Amino acid sequence: MLVAEVMLQQTQLAVVLPYWQRWLAALPSLAALLAAEEHDVLMLWQGLGYYSRARRLHRAAGQLLVGQGLSPDQSLDGVMASGPDGPDLWPRSLEGWQALPGLGRSTAASILSSAFDAPSAILDGNVKRVLARLIASPRPPARQLARFWQLSELLLDPRRPRAFNQALMDLGASVCTPRSPRCGACPWRGHCAAYAAGDSARYPVKDAPRTVPFQVVGVGVVLDGAGRVLIDQRLNEGLLGGLWEFPGGKQEEGEAIAATIERELAEELAIAVAVGEELIVIEHAYSHKRLRFVVHLCTWLAGEPQPLASQQVRWVRPVELADYPFPAANGRIIAALLEHLAAAGAA
Ligand code: SF4
Repeated sequence: MLVAEVMLQQTQLAVVLPYWQRWLAALPSLAALLAAEEHDVLMLWQGLGYYSRARRLHRAAGQLLVGQGLSPDQSLDGVMASGPDGPDLWPRSLEGWQALPGLGRSTAASILSSAFDAPSAILDGNVKRVLARLIASPRPPARQLARFWQLSELLLDPRRPRAFNQALMDLGASVCTPRSPRCGACPWRGHCAAYAAGDSARYPVKDAPRTVPFQVVGVGVVLDGAGRVLIDQRLNEGLLGGLWEFPGGKQEEGEAIAATIERELAEELAIAVAVGEELIVIEHAYSHKRLRFVVHLCTWLAGEPQPLASQQVRWVRPVELADYPFPAANGRIIAALLEHLAAAGAA
């Protein structure tokens, strides 16, 4: 439940499902999660995005254990199997869940309701949409969250909170859908202001779209004379923290892309390279920015690589790249590199 809710924070159910199944097969218990290396946890998350969620889950496992006064080398399986009379591992309050890293009120409330049938109101994306339509809210839900939480609390059936919340989420997912809501099949249409106004799909209203900044990033796939390729591990902060990548950085105004790559590799790794042919160009859109990665093959000339802006750097054989967790965009760089090496007879 905890893993599923965290995966669902920024990702849709259909995308999450195979990841969740893979995760549970590899890490079937909190004890297994706690014992796993962060590298392996990130590998299981690879492709799901927002990787800080995986690292926080890892930390949450340790925090739950410490909360019980247990040391990390004690097996949690025994604790969890001890039944209602044994020590209770799981928090039973919103505050208890929100004290874990990466869990906000929405996730905490959803876990309490689903796992413990606690009278805890929920407010995920589906619920926000249903509520916005019920009251024909003239402002986006994100701009009046307190009001929406209040509304969800008011509607909650305290005798059957789990069933009510599940029904509310199902209503949003299957009837009050983002486009073309099926109001004719909706049990709440007699109480719905958006339906009464004859314009259900207009809600929730959205803010005017903002311009998303665009940035070109020069990336170097650096090969040494022994056929190894250079990768570095990002610092733990930020969207892609802890993942591995090919080194590079942002192109400055008026700068040629080869100069960007040379400069970035000198600044971040203290190495000199000869920038060779273009390997691939990749466009990648995040919610807050658009990036174009211009990737060139490079030959290492001088300097022992230093992790000046990363956790560590490593020379690896191209076939070993699959053993490292990379951001999604880097998967295409790896595929292009392997294809290039195969064509050159060097794979
Ligand atoms: S009547 Fe239509 S818009 Fe209103 S809650 Fe039901 S499905 Fe949504």
